Parts: sequence; structure tokens; C-alpha cells
Amino acid sequence: MPFVELPDRVRTLRNLVGGEWMPPLGGKHLDVDSPYTGQVVAHVPLSDAGDVDRAVKAAAAAAPGWRATPIKERTQKLFRFRELLFAELNALSNTAALESGKTVEEAKAGILKGIEVAEYALSLQNMSHGGVLEVSRGVSCETRREPLGVVAGIVPFNFPAMVPMWMFPIAITLGNTFVMKPSEKVPLTLTRIGELMGEAGFPPGVFSLVHGGREAAEALVEHPDIAAVAFVGSSAAARAVYERATRNGKRALCLGGAKNQLIVVPDADPDVTVKGVVDSFTGCAGQRCMAASLLLAVGDVDPLLSRIHERARSVELGRQMGAIIDRAAKERILAAIAKAEAQGAKIVVDGRKASAPAGYEGGYWMGPTVIDHARPEMECATMEIFGPVMTVVRVRTVDEALAIEAKNRYGNATSVFTTRGAVARYVAERSTSGMIGVNVGVPVPREPFSFGGTKDSRFGQGDITGQGGVEFWTTLKKITSKWELQQDNGWMS
Ligand code: NAD
Repeated sequence: MPFVELPDRVRTLRNLVGGEWMPPLGGKHLDVDSPYTGQVVAHVPLSDAGDVDRAVKAAAAAAPGWRATPIKERTQKLFRFRELLFAELNALSNTAALESGKTVEEAKAGILKGIEVAEYALSLQNMSHGGVLEVSRGVSCETRREPLGVVAGIVPFNFPAMVPMWMFPIAITLGNTFVMKPSEKVPLTLTRIGELMGEAGFPPGVFSLVHGGREAAEALVEHPDIAAVAFVGSSAAARAVYERATRNGKRALCLGGAKNQLIVVPDADPDVTVKGVVDSFTGCAGQRCMAASLLLAVGDVDPLLSRIHERARSVELGRQMGAIIDRAAKERILAAIAKAEAQGAKIVVDGRKASAPAGYEGGYWMGPTVIDHARPEMECATMEIFGPVMTVVRVRTVDEALAIEAKNRYGNATSVFTTRGAVARYVAERSTSGMIGVNVGVPVPREPFSFGGTKDSRFGQGDITGQGGVEFWTTLKKITSKWELQQDNGWMS
């Protein structure tokens, strides 16, 4: 059985503009290759400001009608979209795996996580999003959540379906029209999603796709008719997008990179910890913003670390762990490991020489790697490596671990592995991260809780899914009304 089905033809993709699939105005394309084999699997448009303008105009034309459509009717389209996603789940998982390098199982899990956000969006029609209070005799104040208009999303390569679905199901259900810029590295999954949105009956212009790279992203962020921008990607780009968007008077929420830490104490449950740690840093080949990257080993946890090494060495490439997104990323990861070694850290599990699975030699593969005895100031302990690499820093106390955690420039996730509730609570209360795990290696909050970090992992206020998403994609209107019955009109009583 192959790990992933390769396509029988190389597709040249188009932008989705007002319900039509259109080639980019400038005619420029980029090759998309599969991390599994290095083979070209698609040509993605490199759109420019003209393409963005065309898509935004179509989205703006659709906005008044969509806003006026009752939420119950908008929700019916999303119901249909969810059904189509389930019907397509295997094929879509294969597409997402093919272009991102994930295993098909991981790709499927990502789509199912995206569907959870859609299911939260489906429930919005049954929730009250406003309030009313009688403030004086005959006078009431009311709040209503209203859509912003045309909004945009710019997304990374590592979750081709899930991260976009953090955004558009909630935004569209609440009455906005949406322009998405997929990652130029993984454009196929969102292209299929765009087709399914049409099949689900969303009117033309409600969901649009403008493929491309930085040029298209910047044009979206500059466009005067875009009211809000959600961004997920590296911190440097997140900061740049946040600054550009807010300078242009837009609402912006920009999630960035991460360096997540796991604090392991001597009383940790061995089975839970070994599985939790290894799955966290090897899942998606470490290319997820919630992956474990820094293990703060408190006191003597050597027996646990030995078991972690053993499990990491047994991870089977292709079956249990996928590939690195591209050659440049693999080289960056290898350089980070070499630097750690040169600075005196020990490579105790070395995935650099791991062989590619048979038949996939052209792809970008490496095995899980553990760097031990690193000092907290080394780059391997502070920099986002974004690969299947975990750095171990030894500390004597939980407070020492928390002091290192506090200096981390990123603030997505911190997990603690312990069997004592008091230790868990101590860490949870003092951690500077936005998402905390207790005996959980990847502490992504489920809906209806929202997703978001702190520090350089998030620029802007609020969170991206759940109630945070509802707040981000709407504006709160306040209505003060006075209704007093006039007795002098002769016909009332
Ligand atoms: P990236 O920053 O290179 O690209 C992300 C998106 O931004 C792409 O669509 C890209 O075309 C666009 N882009 C790149 N530079 C830009 C710029 N200067 N201005 C405007 N747009 C720009 O990120 P990536 O390599 O695709 O994804 C990996 C990164 O994403 C990692 O740092 C990871 O931690 C982060 N990430 C964060 C979260 C989170 O929730 N915090 C989730 C997933 C991924």
C-alpha cells in the first residue's frame, strides 16, 4: 500500500472569483511539489493586486445579499458543506497529505478538527449574540452582533484544511463574505474546498480564493474594501501583516510561530508522558504550532528520557511520521541541529541520516531528533525549528523551568506532565503561555473554547475560534429605543 496516492496529472490551478475559476491576470504560476517524492503535483497561480481587487470586488458585490440572508438559511449551506466534506473525507485527506507531507491519518485528523469548528458555527444560529436591558421607563438598550462585510484570511502550509476552517465557517455563518489566500505550498486542498463550497450552494462571491504568495497577501491587507484580516503563519510575517493591516485601519488577528515547552517532573506517569511527549514532537513531523519543542526536565527524569529516546527511534517514516514540507525547510532544520552540536549539546536521537521510505527517495525526509544537555540560551532552546526535533534542558526545580518559560519570546503552549494536581495547578497559574496542557502534549482547546497564544505567537487581541471567532468577525451594534404608548391618539384605548 502506498503511503499516499499520487495524482495522475499535474493541474494548473485557478483563482475562485465570484463563483468562477479564473487564471491569474499576469499569467504567472509556481510549481507545487509533494514532500513525499519531490515531484511537481500542481502549478499554483502567483496572483497580484489586480487579481486580489477582482476577488474583493466580487466578494463586496455578494456582501449585501449574504448579510440580508437569515442566519438560518446561511447555516443550511454550511450543513450541506459539512456533509460534502464527510463524503469526500478520504480523497481530501489524501490531497492534504500529498501536498503537505503529513501522513494521510494526520491529514484526516486535521480535516476533522476543521469540521469541529464548522459544527460550532452551525450552532451559532441557536445562540443569542446580543442582549437587551430596560434602562428607563419605556427605554431599552439592545446589542446586536453584525457582520463586518468583506473579510480575509491568509494561511500557512502546515494545516491545509484545519487552519482555514478556523476562520471561514464562523465568519461566513455570521454574514461576512470571505476572501482566502491559501499557502502557495499547499493550494490543492483549499481549491477542492472552494469547489465544495459552490456545490453546497453558497452564492457566488461568498467564498473566494486568491492563490499566491506574499504579493497577493500584501495586496489583500492593503485593499480598502477588506474590513478584517486573520493571519496564521510565522511570527515575522504575522507581525508584518498585523502592522500593515492596522495601519490601513483594519481589524487584525495574526497568529505567529511557537516554541512550546513540556515540563516533565519526576512523579510524571511514565506511559502517559512518553507517549504524550513523543507524539507531540513527532506528530506532523513537528511542523505544527502546538508541537513540543523544548523539554524542561526537572530533577532526575533520566528513566523517562531513555524511554522517550527509545520510542522516538522506533517511529516509522511514512507510516507514523510524514515528510518535511520542502528542501529548504529540511536544510534549515539540519543546520539548527548541527549548530546545537557545535555549541556542545548532545544529539541523543539522531534523525539526520534516516533513510526515506522505499519508493519515496526524492522526498524531504528525516527522522525524529532529540538534542540533550542544551543550555537555555542556545538557539536550539529558543528558536522555532519547526521540524521533528526536541531540545532537552535540564533544570533542578519547577521554578527554574518556569523562569526559562517566562523568557520564551513565544507563548503558544506549555504542558506539564505530573501525577500531582498541585504541581499542575502551580504551573498552569504561573505559565506565560496562552494554552496549557496537563498530561496533554498538544493542548489545543476544543470548541467552543478559543485558540490563541500570547507574546510573539499572537499579534492582536482575542482568539481565533469559538467565542473569540464570533467576536472577531462581528461588530457590536448598540441600539437605544424609546417606546412609550401615547394615550392621546383616540384609537388606542
Ligand atoms: P509563512 O509565514 O511563511 O506563510 C504563511 C502565509 O503568509 C502564507 O500564505 C504566505 O504566502 C504568507 N506570507 C509569507 N510572508 C508574508 C509576508 N511578509 N506578508 C504577508 N504574507 C506573507 O508560514 P508557513 O511556513 O506557511 O507556516 C509555518 C509557520 O506558521 C510556523 O511559524 C508555525 O508556527 C506557524 N503557525 C502558527 C499557528 C498558530 O496558530 N499560531 C498555526 C499554524 C502555523
